[in-house]
Amino acid sequence: MSLISASGHLSKMAIAPSADGEPVQYQLVLDDQRIALNEHLGKHITLQWQGEIHCCHCGRKTKKSFAQGFCYPCFSKLAQCDSCMMSPEKCHFAAGTCREPQWAEQVCFNDHIVYLANSSGLKVGITRATQMPVRWLDQGASQALPIARVKNRRLSGLIEDLLRQQVADKTNWRALLKGDAVPLDLGAERDRLFDRFAAGIDAIEQQEGPGSVTLIENAATETFAYPVMNYPLKISSHNFDKTAEVSGRLEGIKGQYLLLDTGVINLRKFTSYNTGFTVTD
Ligand SMILES: [Zn+2]
Repeated sequence: MSLISASGHLSKMAIAPSADGEPVQYQLVLDDQRIALNEHLGKHITLQWQGEIHCCHCGRKTKKSFAQGFCYPCFSKLAQCDSCMMSPEKCHFAAGTCREPQWAEQVCFNDHIVYLANSSGLKVGITRATQMPVRWLDQGASQALPIARVKNRRLSGLIEDLLRQQVADKTNWRALLKGDAVPLDLGAERDRLFDRFAAGIDAIEQQEGPGSVTLIENAATETFAYPVMNYPLKISSHNFDKTAEVSGRLEGIKGQYLLLDTGVINLRKFTSYNTGFTVTD
């Protein structure tokens, strides 16, 4: 007998932080339905792709999903799908070739944060100030520390690009899903990077003007725990494009991944897929 049965288009899971030490809280999002997931740990779940993908921006049916949920026309027209979202140091607004300057003024010209995080090891990342701590939870980070606040997205990209000389900017997702990250002293890493790159960060601020970059010297490291009963010993990935039905015992949730005893699935990758969800005991 199924305990829950629902269907709709997948979005990334909604994740909320918890009080000290408690695992973060996950909700599966199917259109406008939200289904609490933590309480289903240990149960058998089934996700069934029903064969259609509808663009998360315009709703049109698309055979293939681009950039995690868009149709091809939206993918090629929207600023949020442009390459500078992934590489903001190559900002098209600054180059005069932004696809949607008005959108950029609303989104990119807001305070951004450069942070250090520990997901599968030390990494540097950037996010809009309003996206903390969601961005860290989406990445499955177990620790995070904001280290600089800047006036726009491009500046955050320039600083990230500089720090990338010594710190990774990617998460090793296989390592992420194989166990808890070894705790790091992010404050010490921050101090080391500030020492090493003081002149470079200063030069970036001078380009844009005084006050455009504020180093955060004394923030506290935030820590997050994820609802995981067992990490897989060997990682295999489910993929709706190959197998429409994915089922197994739910053994954990981390970042945007469900960990089943039959393999893992990155739900964000399947944004806009019309999907059924059932829980049985
Ligand atoms: Zn579209």
